[in-house]
Amino acid sequence: RLVSPEPADDREDSVEKSLRPQTLAQYIGQAPIKHELSVYIQAAKQREESLDHVLLYGPPGLGKTTLALVIANEMGVQIRTTSGPAVEKPGDLVALLNELQPGDILFIDEIHRLPKVVEEMLYSAMEDFYIDIVVGQGPTAHPVHFPLPPFTLIGATTRAGLLSAPLRDRFGIVEHMAYYESADLEEIVKRSAEIFQTPIDPAGAHAIALRSRGTPRIANRLLKRIRDFAEVSPDHDTIDPAIVDHALTLLRVDSAGLDQTDIKLLTTMIDYYNGGPVGLNTLAANIGEETETVAAMYEPYLLQRGFLKRTAQGRVVTPAGYEHLGRAFPTK
Ligand code: ADP
Repeated sequence: RLVSPEPADDREDSVEKSLRPQTLAQYIGQAPIKHELSVYIQAAKQREESLDHVLLYGPPGLGKTTLALVIANEMGVQIRTTSGPAVEKPGDLVALLNELQPGDILFIDEIHRLPKVVEEMLYSAMEDFYIDIVVGQGPTAHPVHFPLPPFTLIGATTRAGLLSAPLRDRFGIVEHMAYYESADLEEIVKRSAEIFQTPIDPAGAHAIALRSRGTPRIANRLLKRIRDFAEVSPDHDTIDPAIVDHALTLLRVDSAGLDQTDIKLLTTMIDYYNGGPVGLNTLAANIGEETETVAAMYEPYLLQRGFLKRTAQGRVVTPAGYEHLGRAFPTK
């Protein structure tokens, strides 16, 4: 799906790596978070201590991994990256922690998906920099106290609510990543276009920003596709609003960044349920998607844009949602 906030594949992954900002100054938007982090980083460096543990939460594609890499770079330390589902056993965590030098960063993406036994081991590691492990089996089994160098854990999650309280409480710095303003996305698009060496005019960058669903990953993906259209078009060597419109009309992404499924979801609600309230399960069944998929992939952006509203009775299309589709809001 073109407007999915999740990474598409390995190829996109490698493009993303080339687009990643390296420093806080290059990291666009999220001003309050950047400001706070720059203070904590400077203070930790002055005290020659490791940075406090950091929890970054927010929707996919907003730059959590990128920010973790930037923090490591600014601290001048090494970073090891892994993800919750990849750390299956306590032994996997021991191996990761064992490789850390003093001050290093361990980044765990999707930290809410860590197995419970691994998570519990993190408590003492985070709080007092040690772990207790049991070595051997049967009668020879004995506990070993394993000291760790001071390190920083950076956890990222799309679902802060799924984190257990004991884990959440061990993060000294907790940052909520918000969707990006279109002015920031415009800057991101311009910066990426420069890296791609693709000419783009400011209005073209603005047009892409408006359709990027507040998400840098989507902005970069749209830019990459539109660049193809610009390059093969005889009369467009620069990306301008006309080529953005042309490409995204063909790719069926509308002026607010909605795709066919988003539109089907809203029109189904209007045509069959008088705009709602409709339960999520009913809605999902109607458009032929899993309930989880609708909750995770489609609904968040529609809610954020104010096209959809959650009520105790179910989902409701808002007047803004009607207006976006060019439909009259029923006077009930
Ligand atoms: P997440 O970990 O939240 O899913 P990523 O850190 O992988 O998101 O970011 C996705 C892509 O978006 C990265 O390749 C990066 O180039 C771009 N990006 C994210 N945030 C920013 C930003 N603040 N400035 C510039 N580019 C960004």
